Amino acid sequence: MLDTIEQRVLIYAPLGKDAVLACHALENAGLHCHVCMSLSDLLGELNRGVGVVVTVEEGLPDSAAKHIKNFLVTQATWSDLPILVLTKTGGTSPWIQGAAERFGNLTLLERPVRAPTLISAVRSAMRARLRQYEVRLSDERKDEFLAMLAHELRNPLAPISAAAELMEIISADPAKVKNTSKIIARQVDHMSNLIDDLLDVARVTRGLVTLEKELLDVRDILSQAVEQVNPQITTKQQHLAIEIPEKAASVFGDRKRLIQVVANLLNNASKYTPDNGHIVVKLQLHPEWIVVDISDDGIGIVPDVLSRVFDLFAQAKRTSDRTQGGLGLGLALVKSLVTSHDGSVHAASPGPSQGSTFTIRLPRMADKEITETATQLPLIDSAKPNAHSLQIMVVDDNVDAANTLSMLLNILGHVVSTEYGAKDAIKRARNAVPQVCILDIGLPEMDGYLLAQALREMPETSAATLIAMTGYSQEEDR
Ligand code: ADP
Repeated sequence: MLDTIEQRVLIYAPLGKDAVLACHALENAGLHCHVCMSLSDLLGELNRGVGVVVTVEEGLPDSAAKHIKNFLVTQATWSDLPILVLTKTGGTSPWIQGAAERFGNLTLLERPVRAPTLISAVRSAMRARLRQYEVRLSDERKDEFLAMLAHELRNPLAPISAAAELMEIISADPAKVKNTSKIIARQVDHMSNLIDDLLDVARVTRGLVTLEKELLDVRDILSQAVEQVNPQITTKQQHLAIEIPEKAASVFGDRKRLIQVVANLLNNASKYTPDNGHIVVKLQLHPEWIVVDISDDGIGIVPDVLSRVFDLFAQAKRTSDRTQGGLGLGLALVKSLVTSHDGSVHAASPGPSQGSTFTIRLPRMADKEITETATQLPLIDSAKPNAHSLQIMVVDDNVDAANTLSMLLNILGHVVSTEYGAKDAIKRARNAVPQVCILDIGLPEMDGYLLAQALREMPETSAATLIAMTGYSQEEDR
C-alpha cells in the first residue's frame, strides 16, 4: 500500500501569501498538501516522504539550495523528485540559469501563475512520481524473487549432494542405491520444473510464444490436465469432482498451452488445499463463451494478494508448512496464455481458509464434430529390455554429464564411446563408426555445429543420426 505521506505536496514559500494560496488551490483540487514554515521544516518533511515539492525562487538562495541538492543526490536510484519553482516575473535571472542543473527534475512556472496552471503542473508531476513508486515496487519484488529463487534452487542441492556421498558408502547394497537414486531423480525433476517455468515466463513475457491453434474440445483439455495433476491429488487424498456437459465445448486454441493453463490451476488448487480437501472443476457452455471454474476449499487468498495474484512473482506470505512453494510464476503464465487466446481469467476468494475459485473464459467456437487429431505416440514399455543395441558416441566437455549419460546408455544395452572434445570425437568416429552421435553444442575449440558438419562429411558417419544435447531447448533455438 502506498503511504499517503509519499503523495504529499510539500509547499515551501517563506515570504508573502504564496504558500497559503497555493495550498488552498491544490487542496481544492484534491491534492494533499503540507506547508513548510522554514527550511529545516522542509528538510525534515522531505525525509519523511514526499510526492512533489512546490517552492518559490526567492525561497531558495544558494545557502538553502545547497541543502536541497544534498537531499536530491542521496535519493535512491528509482527516485527523481519533481520540484516546481514559481519564478519572479519576466525572470531570466542567473538563479534560473543554474537551477535545472542543481535540482534535476525541475519545472519553472513564471508568476503570476493561474490556479489551473499550477494544479495541472502539480498533477502531472505527481503522476510521474507515482510511476517512480511503481518502479520501486517492482524492484523490491524482483529482489525478493531473486532471494527466493536462490533459495528454491539451493534446496534440492542438499539432498542431491547427500545422496552422492551416500552412493559411495552403500554401493554394495542395490536396494539402498535404488532408493538413493530415486531421491536424486525426484530432486532433479523439481529443479527442472522450476527452471522450465523460468524459461517459459521469459519467453512469454518477451512475446516469443507462437500458439499452434486448432479446433479443440475443452472437455479433452480438462481430462488431460486432470491426468497430469492426478498423482498429486491422489497423494493428498483429495476429492476431485468434475462437472462437464454432454455437448462439445469447442474453442480454437493451442492444445499444449491450454492443458498447461488448466494443469497449473489444478496444481495450485491441490497445493494450497490440505489433505482430504475438495476440488471441483466445472465446465459451462454460454452462447459466446466456454467457462471453466476450478474451485477448492483450501487456504484461500487474502484481498491484498488477490488483487495482484496474476502479477509476476506474486505470492502470499510463506508459512513453514509450505513445502512445495513455486516461484510465483504460474499464474502470470496462466494469465498471459489465456489472454493470448482472447480469453480472460479471474480469481476469487471469500478470505483465508475459505477456499478459492479461478475462472477461465474462452471464446466459444461454433459446434462441430471434433475429431481426435493428436497422433498417438508409441508407448515405451520400460519393462522390456531394449532389443536394439546401437553404437553411440557421446561428446560433451562436461565430463560428469558425458560419463553419466554414457553409463545410462550402456546400461540400456548400447555400445557407447565417450569423448570430451570435438577433435578427439572426430578421431574416435573413424574407428568406432557410431550410428548415433549425441553432441553437446557449446564445446571449446570447435562447437557442436561444426563438429556435426565434420561428421556429416566423413564417410563413416555421413548417415549417422546426430542429436544435439543442449540447454537451449526452446522452439526458436530448434
Ligand atoms: P506459486 O504457486 O509458484 O507460488 P503461482 O503464480 O501459481 O505461484 O501462484 C501465486 C500465489 O497465489 C501463490 O503463491 C499463492 O499464494 C496464491 N495461490 C494460487 N492459487 C491458489 C489457490 N488455489 N489457493 C490459495 N492460494 C493460491
